[in-house]
Amino acid sequence: MRTRNLLFIACAIVVAGCGSERPNSRNSDAAPSMRTAEPRYQLANQCFIARHQGTGGYLQTSPSGSVSLVMKPADATPFFMKPTRLGHYVFFDTKERFLSQTSAAEVPASQLENILKQLGQTVEGLGDFIDLNADVHPVADGVDQVGEQVTAQSLVVSGAVREGAGRSLAMQAKPDDSSEWRISGAADALDVVNVVTEQGLLAEFGASQFRFIPATGCTDFPEISVNAQGEPFKGRNPDGTVFGYAETHMHLGGHEMFGGRLGYGKPFHKFGVAHALGRCEENHGPTGELALVDVVVNPNQGPPQHDVVGWPTFKDWPSYGGQTHQQTYYMWLKRAWMGGLRLMVNHLVANEGLCLLWPLKGTDCNEMETIEVQRQLVLSLQDYIDAQAGGPGLGFFRIVTSSAEARRVIESGQMAVVLGTENEKIFDCGEFLDRPDCTEASIERDLNTWYERGIRAIFPIHLVDNAFGGTRLTDEPAMNALYSVANLVETGHPYATVPCDGPDNIQPNEAQVESRSIFDTILLMFTNPPPVQPVTGCQRNARGLTPLGDHFIHRLIDYGIWVETDHTGTLARNRIFDIAQARGVPVFSGHTGEVSAKTKDSDRILQTGGLISQLPDSTSTDFITFVNDLEALHLKLFGNTRELATGMGSDINGLHIQARPREDVATKPLKYPFKSYDGRVVFDKQVSGQRVYDLNVDGVAHYGLFPDYLADIQMQPDGEKALKYVFRSAEAYLQRWAKVERARKQPPLKN
Ligand SMILES: [Zn+2]
Ligand SMILES: [Zn+2]
Repeated sequence: MRTRNLLFIACAIVVAGCGSERPNSRNSDAAPSMRTAEPRYQLANQCFIARHQGTGGYLQTSPSGSVSLVMKPADATPFFMKPTRLGHYVFFDTKERFLSQTSAAEVPASQLENILKQLGQTVEGLGDFIDLNADVHPVADGVDQVGEQVTAQSLVVSGAVREGAGRSLAMQAKPDDSSEWRISGAADALDVVNVVTEQGLLAEFGASQFRFIPATGCTDFPEISVNAQGEPFKGRNPDGTVFGYAETHMHLGGHEMFGGRLGYGKPFHKFGVAHALGRCEENHGPTGELALVDVVVNPNQGPPQHDVVGWPTFKDWPSYGGQTHQQTYYMWLKRAWMGGLRLMVNHLVANEGLCLLWPLKGTDCNEMETIEVQRQLVLSLQDYIDAQAGGPGLGFFRIVTSSAEARRVIESGQMAVVLGTENEKIFDCGEFLDRPDCTEASIERDLNTWYERGIRAIFPIHLVDNAFGGTRLTDEPAMNALYSVANLVETGHPYATVPCDGPDNIQPNEAQVESRSIFDTILLMFTNPPPVQPVTGCQRNARGLTPLGDHFIHRLIDYGIWVETDHTGTLARNRIFDIAQARGVPVFSGHTGEVSAKTKDSDRILQTGGLISQLPDSTSTDFITFVNDLEALHLKLFGNTRELATGMGSDINGLHIQARPREDVATKPLKYPFKSYDGRVVFDKQVSGQRVYDLNVDGVAHYGLFPDYLADIQMQPDGEKALKYVFRSAEAYLQRWAKVERARKQPPLKN
């Protein structure tokens, strides 16, 4: 008996460790390595029958939703064990229901009494059967005894339910918090406890330990698939560098911006994709009319109404032109990782002024509080992805706080995630009539706090002036006027402008105006701007870096934090370049490569040893044009391209449109299936529920289509060359980050 049990356990462990051989590999989140984890984590995304160790009975669910224990394994219900977080699960049965401890109002107390009586009778009546099947239970006498105990106990337990313990076991079609179970302990006796009631599962029988025995016949838990086969590259290049590309600017938690109700959807939900990407009407209204920001953002979008159903049809969203629906569901992220994404800078994002303007709110508008909500979300996302992969550290998604840690993560084949911030008033450092809302002392306190919380990249200035300096004036005259209003509201003063005195800024009439960011759009909708002051000639923000801003940049460098320079006004940005160059640290242009490239900013960024990434919001051919321009600039500045690398700065989730389909797809489509740039993974069209995504039709509708976009680049003239630079960008980021760390003065660098 003991030997048999151990075999079961060993089998479970082996199965959990072997990605492609797992019974439900279609849904599984294969771990990037074969490390072992505790037994409680290894149930993830697999099929089991559950044997109650107190009685020897197996869980069985009935069509009516009641739960029983039966003695024959063949009568047991197979459960798909879907993790809700590390060590927590839902039991998903073949009728797609969830084992729950429901309230008495939902399930009659008598039902539990029936369950317990049935068990008692079953166990008592099966002495002979059990005698002949020693594999199932070793001692028939013991079973009879247990049966008698159960019958005696059942009255007590059901009485307790009637008197107000208030909950009983049942299968529910819709999960609630009582559908979640925490599992701990050793493999042959995993303890199962409800997270709401803190009661052990069937603890009424004297024990809540279960043995989970691998089974077949489960109904798969609904999930989005990656539609990719193969194991992506890990290890090092022959020259010791890492391989892969960097996403230098994106927002996993964009849905939390502006009070949490403007966008819709989450990168994961403990009860699965139907909850993460369900119906958006709670935020967008019954016909989606409240997402009309999408229309203003992208005039090609059509009428504001959209089908509110996400999973499983995804008829109208997500889309490349929309900004109000979550585009980084974790399985889409996973597909991007399989396509070579190895480093991701996730900016926690907030804008108090626009949050106050948007009428629907779920959270407070304080920027630093919003940012903390998003940080917690990313921590939970890492936990959730680990849980799907079978244990702590096994998921592809790893939050890192140093370049050395990031390098280890990437070499092990996982994706390093760097946390940054992009908001108007970092550390609440706004200004009103040029009086700062913060002090050197408060900055010091907050730097300490947020460094400890893992922030390693910071935008000192965003869209409105703040205590550190002036914002970059937009190139578009109408937008310039609108931002002036926002600036007036937040700071009490309009922009102060001076004419451009050189080629630092492009002329307004040269600016592209085809797409707008969501910030622009909300301002258009909710502000009533005064008559637009026509911008005559080139103007730039007269506010440079303030003395407090000067101090802040130095302290960021002292802390070893990346300075993000996009959005900073010309004068302030030039001052940041001066400081960075004097201190020997690179600066960053993570998502406005094209804008930087049109100005002398690119020269300055590259001269600090910094990195420039393009916002890939246009077709693959346009992306290649950007890389060619960057190559020419490198040759002009350095006479070579040895240090040339460039990432993607998608700004996905609320801030910018993504790439539309190429104009010539009819004659020159991307062909499916295609291979990843490393040649190791074969990608088919991505399928989300009933929706099939095709880059040729859908553009980059969600984050899982970046491998498709990269393949589309590869097949264009100069595409191979462009990807050579792109796939150096993870290494380039690490080398430059190490330089930022070396300039650090305090606190001492760990690791
Ligand atoms: Zn919607
Ligand atoms: Zn952004």
